[in-house]
Amino acid sequence: MAPTRRDVLSTSLAIPAILAFPSVALSKTRRQAAPGDDHRGPVAIASANGIPAVERAFAMMHEGADPADAAVAGVTIVENDPNDLSVGYGGLPNEEGVIQLDASVMHGPTHKSGAVACIEGIKNPAAVALLVLKRTDHCLIVGEGAKRFAMANGFKEEDLMTDRTRQIWMRWNANLNDRDDWLDEDQMDWDARDPMNRGRGPIGSNEAVNELERLAADHDVRWRNGVAYTTGTINCCTVDGSGDVASCTTTSGLSWKIPGRVGDSPITGAGMYCDNDVGAAGATGRGEAVILNCGGFSIVRAMERGLTPTEACLEVAGDIVRRTKEKRLRGEDGRVNFDVKLYAARKDGAYGGASIRPGGRFAVCDENGARIEACPSVYNA
Ligand code: ASP
Repeated sequence: MAPTRRDVLSTSLAIPAILAFPSVALSKTRRQAAPGDDHRGPVAIASANGIPAVERAFAMMHEGADPADAAVAGVTIVENDPNDLSVGYGGLPNEEGVIQLDASVMHGPTHKSGAVACIEGIKNPAAVALLVLKRTDHCLIVGEGAKRFAMANGFKEEDLMTDRTRQIWMRWNANLNDRDDWLDEDQMDWDARDPMNRGRGPIGSNEAVNELERLAADHDVRWRNGVAYTTGTINCCTVDGSGDVASCTTTSGLSWKIPGRVGDSPITGAGMYCDNDVGAAGATGRGEAVILNCGGFSIVRAMERGLTPTEACLEVAGDIVRRTKEKRLRGEDGRVNFDVKLYAARKDGAYGGASIRPGGRFAVCDENGARIEACPSVYNA
């Protein structure tokens, strides 16, 4: 059964306190589970694949950079990493084998956001989103227009597929159905995998399953009819020494998506949001669920009502679970069969996160350096 809001939040919550942020009475257990709620001062947090991102963002803010510039510079490192299958260069493609990227950034002091969606051939969509924010009167530019905007601003068109993502996509495509003209692994008379596969197994083989299991620590993997669908993204929220905030999210989105599908990542108020009077928030995981619950916006509003960052994330994660009505999105145990991870940083430097499934983690950097911290979940282990 879906948990009620009361199950999710067992603590009593202080209500009004827009700027004062009195510490909310936390139970001892909750306090141990969420040390970030007691943190004060500049901080950068990110999804668990974002250790290099928070390090760079925090270092830049330390040297006086704007929090939005710092967040974008941080996530750019992950976009450039060919081994991260969820973002930028080396991200997994759509069903036609084309990588379409989504990104957004919001800047607290000006309360402006910029975003691009379904952009092809451009490695660094977060930096393009920042230019939409800085140089245009628009919030979101999509598809061909976004690519032309990027190229007009000096970005180069590149092939974003790596050997690894091409192999994974080809195997996914071949294994989709055993009646089409693409041969499945067990239909081949001889090992046609090399040299295309260079020793790697296909999606669905034990080797690929192991690879997906490793990825599942930081990415959500759902199996539909034996086919793996992965999501993964980076969000980075920043708070500088003056309490100015920003949030940035960038992704290649759901693997094998229908061409043109846009997730939550480039949607202001869903995949990220900030309000300079309150704080910043972001989301990764099943984008449709985050859009349907205005994830980023709801977290910031919950902090404005007086919830700590961790409590705000848990409340919204619980709302997502409670509002998931479709049977196909629940397992036999009644639990939702997807994950969402939420992140929040308040303007005084308190930070936290929450996930639906147990085992959620996120990256943090402050004056004590970068580290991974665990976050509470809607469902217990
Ligand atoms: N939220 C992203 C999307 O739905 C994917 C993810 O974060 O894993 O496109």
